[in-house]
Amino acid sequence: MGTFWEDLWRREEGFMASAKPEFRHGTYFIGVSDIASQFYCEYKAENKFALGEIPTEAKKEGTELHDELIPGVEITADEFVRLVSKEEPSYAVLRVWGWVDGLRIIGMPDHIVWSSGRPVWLVELKTTKGDPNTLWDDQMIQTRIYGLLLEEMGFDCSMLKMAVVKVRGHGLSDDDRRQWMQRVSEALMSGTTTELESVYGGLMKAHIVTYDKVKALESVAAKSGYWMGQREATSSESIRKCHACEYNSTCLKSLDRQS
Ligand code: SF4
Repeated sequence: MGTFWEDLWRREEGFMASAKPEFRHGTYFIGVSDIASQFYCEYKAENKFALGEIPTEAKKEGTELHDELIPGVEITADEFVRLVSKEEPSYAVLRVWGWVDGLRIIGMPDHIVWSSGRPVWLVELKTTKGDPNTLWDDQMIQTRIYGLLLEEMGFDCSMLKMAVVKVRGHGLSDDDRRQWMQRVSEALMSGTTTELESVYGGLMKAHIVTYDKVKALESVAAKSGYWMGQREATSSESIRKCHACEYNSTCLKSLDRQS
């Protein structure tokens, strides 16, 4: 294994080993998805720690579809390096991590396409029961922060492109599900996502997201104060969001319950 990889694994080990419960709620690490969800409603984080995760049918179905569309097998670090170092595109994910704006952040992207050791496409898959054409800020921000962490880890992100692929599961055939990641990856690389979307007849949309390091840094900076204990959580100003929220019936700040 080359020096870059040895150095990366060594730095990762140090990063993980140095973790302390130094953030709000005694957390050691802040998840990329936790930061993204603050853009939906920050009070969700309060509820998550006070009341725990609330399982919902939608979450369960979403997770099952997600696992079906992006099946994975665990490989060793050496196998990972061999795979992603090839020039022809390869698919593999790894944990992303790094310090940003005083936060020790970790996350696991859904899908990364590699070529010659460089990430060339980072794909976040979002299942939905609604309209796949709608892209929410938190989904775009989550994807950008993954890119930021890849860059902070030392990867060459000069070729990096990103997409949030939204899909409505009902209506996908078994074959659609099996071939999903291959088809999406090939369509992204060949610039034919519009054609793929029409094949899927409105069940999916590939939202291309520009990787913007400055915006990613700004997004973390806008939310870090909460984790550092510098301010209290803000809460949703949208009844629509509260109505759709799993904490709706118990949340002290719910606009829907109070109305
Ligand atoms: S019910 Fe509303 S305020 Fe409470 S966590 Fe959900 S979205 Fe936020």
